[in-house]
Amino acid sequence: MTTYPHIFTPLDLGFVSIKNRILMGSMHTGLEEVENGFERLSAYYTERARGGVGMIITGGIAPNTEGGSGVKLSTTAEATQHKTVTASVHNAVPDVRICMQILHQGPLAPHDACVAPSAIKSRISRFSPSELTETGIEKQITDMVNCAELAKIAGYDGVEIIGSAGYLLSAFLVEKTNQRTDSWGGSYENRMRFPLAVVRRIRVAVGKNFIVIFRIAAMDMLEGGMSWDEVVMLAKRMQALGVNIISSHFTWHEAAIPTIATMVPRAAFSSVTGRLRKALHIPTIASNRINMPDVAEAVLARGDADLVSMARPMLADPELVRKAQEGREDEINTCIACNQACLDHLFTGQHVSCLVNPRACHETTLNYLPAQTAKNIAVIGAGPAGLSFATVAAGRGHKVTLFDAAAEIGGQFNLAKQIPGKEEFFETLRYYGRMLEIHGVDVCLGTQVSAQMLKDGGFDENIIAAGIKPRTPNIEGIGHAKVVSYIDVIKGRADVGDKVAIIGAGGIGFDVAELISHSGPSSALDIDMFAKQWGIDFRGHPRGGVRGVKPIVVKPAREIYLLQRKTTPVGLGLGKTTGWTHRITLNRRGVKMVNGVEYLKIDDDGLHVLVHGQPQTLNVDTVIICAGQKSLRTLYDELRGLGLNASLVGGAYEAGELDAKRAIDQASRVAALI
Ligand code: FAD
Ligand code: NAP
Ligand code: SF4
Repeated sequence: MTTYPHIFTPLDLGFVSIKNRILMGSMHTGLEEVENGFERLSAYYTERARGGVGMIITGGIAPNTEGGSGVKLSTTAEATQHKTVTASVHNAVPDVRICMQILHQGPLAPHDACVAPSAIKSRISRFSPSELTETGIEKQITDMVNCAELAKIAGYDGVEIIGSAGYLLSAFLVEKTNQRTDSWGGSYENRMRFPLAVVRRIRVAVGKNFIVIFRIAAMDMLEGGMSWDEVVMLAKRMQALGVNIISSHFTWHEAAIPTIATMVPRAAFSSVTGRLRKALHIPTIASNRINMPDVAEAVLARGDADLVSMARPMLADPELVRKAQEGREDEINTCIACNQACLDHLFTGQHVSCLVNPRACHETTLNYLPAQTAKNIAVIGAGPAGLSFATVAAGRGHKVTLFDAAAEIGGQFNLAKQIPGKEEFFETLRYYGRMLEIHGVDVCLGTQVSAQMLKDGGFDENIIAAGIKPRTPNIEGIGHAKVVSYIDVIKGRADVGDKVAIIGAGGIGFDVAELISHSGPSSALDIDMFAKQWGIDFRGHPRGGVRGVKPIVVKPAREIYLLQRKTTPVGLGLGKTTGWTHRITLNRRGVKMVNGVEYLKIDDDGLHVLVHGQPQTLNVDTVIICAGQKSLRTLYDELRGLGLNASLVGGAYEAGELDAKRAIDQASRVAALI
């Protein structure tokens, strides 16, 4: 008997069955557009299919050039390329279903030729769309129908039509983006006409025995968004048109509410899917921040959904479902919802991957093959770099001894996990702890390693993963009693006063500001508290879920300045898809973010600065230094001096702009080749 009876009950759609209740949600990876993209996509999806997932929804594919700038499906030649993917997946795992998402980005398509119901530019797009004429509307419908027919020819088991997020179909549904005065605008009946026409004609074209999923904005998080009645009415109309599954989506891309960041509680939105499910007789899909099998099982057991979508968790661990089925959930590499290597990469034109799994989307180029010769390797430092190196190298058959001066593995991740909203970071350390056990790594904690020890140990290779030391800026009075390091603050070893200046507004400066401006339990662990903090009403569901709901902010008792020398906006360097959430939070709490600062001196009166050239004294009683890092390379230099083999990974290799993403990626790649 499995621990997850709901997950592992097949879902019968009448003409086809889905073998379990977990599907891989749609994610654009960018592989679609690279050389050999379809081969790489095949390897990527096939690995997830082998990992046990019941159904895969591909990244969005445009039906025509107006609908997107990347890969499209509008010709039989293009359908042939897609056959590479469907054949690979079906040959490897015949009982997995793979559906293609049809994504017409409408006003959000990133080019001059984008189209929309009305010529209204989205605040998140650089491009102004053209208003569709009647002929243009007919063309978009025809192209989407053609795309669905070609998806069937290409061997997909079905299609998902995205009707949310601010893309074309949803832009028709909402008054703020649809101000047409013809029969495609005005009343809600008219505004629904376009998505209904698309789905009606697709169903006719593809026939009965082809999965059609409609992705609905179950709560769009817009002041002028859809009311609950409108959501239900649309879902029922889609059901009547023969849609097989309704997938619930949350937010439009332009809404200023986090819905997938790590600060969002797990399964925060599934109650809304649950309410929708009660109004329908076809299956529904829950999504957003469902990252572990117990969370998925609970969503299904509560009756919130018939299927659970996990998108980023499948980047983090392609074998998630199989591990759950085999009772190996402690081996799951959990998605920590950081967005750092997936969405942040996507929105900055880089290849998508995963912070905790650098192989994601590199399945054909990064492989951890058995070592030709097993070596005896010492790894010094059990932070993210040392852990990933040790895990990969030992997994390949090397004999690995991992040292750390601290009493626990994790390095700076042990500081990160203390920040409210970063509780998921515990999971990464749990995962690595288990991997060290499985791969038989000899772990020596509480051991400060010297060059002599390594020489005496006679290791074939010495991997220095000693990380960083915080930079101490050269400011007069830096030794004053009111100056403390971020490490002491996070560890609770330093008293923090009522008036605080933070020197340095990078990732750590922001995290420290969050920590010292925060009160009470973390809202990342409490859905009600999260809803209050961001102004969402899950139960009453006013228009968009947010209309008229004011965020409730608990202001800190202390006065906080977050300072940087650069004249660019504070927080500009934070993650593209999450930085804004941190800026909004600290702004609401009254944290004063100041740029263009020159630090003059620290004394009993406080911190003396020039702000854009103007002298000021910040009368603070604590100054916290978060001014970046320097590499810890002494051990490396000493080893080289002794003529021993040594390599650097992680922060020890390069501290500038270091984060865990780079530390894990670089260390894994070194370990793959050693
Ligand atoms: P470290 O994590 O510094 O590990 C080095 C280890 O080496 C330490 O455990 C140390 O004890 C050990 N060591 C050093 N010398 C010796 C020796 N001689 N003998 C034995 N052991 C030794 N990154 C992100 O990507 N995303 C985030 O959201 C994020 N948040 C963060 C929040 C905070 C508050 C902090 C402090 C950091 C955060 N980071 C984040 C940064 C991330 O934690 C670091 O980039 C990462 O830990 C660097 O990994 P590393 O293995 O190179 O070094
Ligand atoms: P960081 O992001 O590089 O920020 C360092 C800050 O210190 C900057 O604001 C910098 O701004 C300032 N600074 C640099 N040199 C200084 C000097 N000599 N005197 C005074 N100020 C100085 O580094 P970090 O905050 O230490 O973070 C370390 C790594 O962890 C980063 O790569 C970060 O991305 C990662 N991290 C990520 C997150 C996340 O949420 N993704 C969270 C925490 C940490 P000015 O030069 O303008 O003053
Ligand atoms: Fe999850 Fe972060 Fe990996 Fe993205 S990069 S899949 S959010 S762990």
